[in-house]
Amino acid sequence: MESIGALSKKLSDYLDPKKVDQVNKAYHFACEAHSGQLRSSGDPYVTHPIAVATILSSFRMDEDSIAAAMLHDVIEDTGIPKSVIEKKFNKDVADLVDGVSKLDKLTISNRATGEAENLQKMVLAMSKDIRVIVVKLADRLHNMRTLLYLNREKQVKIARETLEIYAPIAHRIGMNNIYRELEDLAFKVLYPTRSERLTAAVKKNRGGQKKTLDKIQKELNKKLLDQGIPALVEGREKHVYSIYRKMKERKRSFEEIMDVYAIKIIVDTPENCYRTLGHIHNLYKPVEGRFKDYIAIPKSNGYQSLHTGVVGLRGFPVEVQVKTQEMNDMAENGIASHWLYKSGNQSDTSPQVRARRWVAGLLEMRENFESTEEFIESVKTDIFPDEIYVFTPRGEIIEMSGGSTAVDFAYAVHTDIGHHCRACRINRRLAPLSVPLESGQTIEIITEKVPQTSPAWLNFAVTPRARNSIRHYLSNLKTSEARKFGKTLLDQSLGNMDIKLRDIDKLELRRVLNNIGVRSLNRLLEEIGLGLRVGNIVAQQFIGFLKENKEITSKNIVPLEITGSEGLIVNYAPCCKPIPGDSVIGHFTAERGLVVHQERCKNILSVREDPQQCFPVNWGESSGKVFTAEIKVIARDEPGLLANLAYAITSQETNISSIQTTEINTGMHEFVLHLEVSDRLHLSRILKKIRSLKSLVSVTRIHDHEMRQAKALH
Ligand code: MN
Repeated sequence: MESIGALSKKLSDYLDPKKVDQVNKAYHFACEAHSGQLRSSGDPYVTHPIAVATILSSFRMDEDSIAAAMLHDVIEDTGIPKSVIEKKFNKDVADLVDGVSKLDKLTISNRATGEAENLQKMVLAMSKDIRVIVVKLADRLHNMRTLLYLNREKQVKIARETLEIYAPIAHRIGMNNIYRELEDLAFKVLYPTRSERLTAAVKKNRGGQKKTLDKIQKELNKKLLDQGIPALVEGREKHVYSIYRKMKERKRSFEEIMDVYAIKIIVDTPENCYRTLGHIHNLYKPVEGRFKDYIAIPKSNGYQSLHTGVVGLRGFPVEVQVKTQEMNDMAENGIASHWLYKSGNQSDTSPQVRARRWVAGLLEMRENFESTEEFIESVKTDIFPDEIYVFTPRGEIIEMSGGSTAVDFAYAVHTDIGHHCRACRINRRLAPLSVPLESGQTIEIITEKVPQTSPAWLNFAVTPRARNSIRHYLSNLKTSEARKFGKTLLDQSLGNMDIKLRDIDKLELRRVLNNIGVRSLNRLLEEIGLGLRVGNIVAQQFIGFLKENKEITSKNIVPLEITGSEGLIVNYAPCCKPIPGDSVIGHFTAERGLVVHQERCKNILSVREDPQQCFPVNWGESSGKVFTAEIKVIARDEPGLLANLAYAITSQETNISSIQTTEINTGMHEFVLHLEVSDRLHLSRILKKIRSLKSLVSVTRIHDHEMRQAKALH
């Protein structure tokens, strides 16, 4: 059994004493919190967190993850609140513990079947920080290792969940060691007889093959030694569950699968991988079509290796993998090997190799991001979905875009449920319809016999399906009904600002209506009632125009202040991608509400002077929100170009959310990048940094996409 002493010693190998102290402090905290609790095995409860932390220490995870592992059951099992952990440790540790606890609450077993993939996405969407997943996987691994102490019913539930949700997630982020062990442990619980028979058969088969395998290994070893290539040649075991799966899915016999010898060769450098391959093909006859170069073109999860198939001694087929130690660690531990190599030197990889990896995705992150925070940030966009996943009361999963509300949910289930929805329960508690939902919640819609559809819902509904259904419904309303609806909404919005419609003097009102660009108050109310205008925005316009007591000219219209945090009422035009600091203008559309364009945007040009369609907006104080800017970089090809470009950008605290590259000329590359920036100043700092690149030809911001939608504006 793992002890705190042994763990501390392991941690001292790679962490400062101060950081080891944090883990020790977490240990004492956990001891006290769990004191008196026992595991089903009879051991003191705290042995479990120690074991989880020990698993993580083998990946050299950072001190916050290890402390979180130590405390991971404290919130759930002992009722100590998150705030206490934050005070005693820090926000990261508290967030991690909270994240793991949330996953614990997700009871997956009673859910509708056939939703495994959505459940995996839900788990990822709920985690947000990759370390939550890594801690959770280590927790699950230890629980699986000690499953025999639970009753049969619990064993099956946990094993099924492991097989359907957690093992695939481990696979997806490349943590293959954990993935294989989880699968084999779950297999053993779910199908004890099959697992036992297969394990015995594998053992027997290996015994029979051992002689031949030893001989091949010896031959290869000698050959490589003669050639001066330091190499480690080892037999590769397939895990039992993967053999079982292959037999089942591909309908192949055990013998067919086992009759292939598998060998892994680990060498020191990528160059020697290729050299080794040459020597193998020289020694044995390669099988056509079996050679794969995953070093030059890594798999999407970052996996790198050379694969080949040869015909070995006595005509037996042999599968061979050749890789470096680092590639091997990446293949076994995936994302977790980021921590393994974080402090390693980078000089052993050439710029070309690094550049290639940069394109490949995951591997690059480890190389280019100096701090763990940057790495986690960058992984986010790659792995964690933007969607949210929530449950219906019957356990079905509904996928919706982030920011969706109960109204969106109601329409996603059925249009009729949308129209008749009056209230909702989130996790069995009554909640307002406008609250943004979070992954993992169970949503129940309370309906009414009479339709409830309200234009007010357009203030917070996000999904096109809901918005279109609401508008469609409203457009069929009688004029009088629409007017009544509109009045209620405008009264409400103005009421929030302490203004009463009937207190506004007639002339004043006329002036306001002129400025807004409608002929009468009734017309304005109808438009609001029909969902053509949004009540909140009209109310803001009222405020602006009422403040202005001067003569009306189009010049003294008071601009609407925007910060990017208005939510769904204000949209930012995808054609010109405005960011704070740009001169901007607001444009009303029936489909999307207010859309903010750059003043220079071509798509807005023809309607810019029309007060019925456009009105001025100004940037208010920064809200900390990030905006997307698009830039184009042209540069001469040179070793490490991609890596240098990426570094120039990420050194300015920026996320690259997408990149496209094309070779425009021999030796000349064009990159189109989407960057997350806070404002113009931020963007100009980035551009400056890019301009300092030696091979740069030009860098420009793109803000003039032709939009097909532009036609709809007229
Ligand atoms: Mn646990």
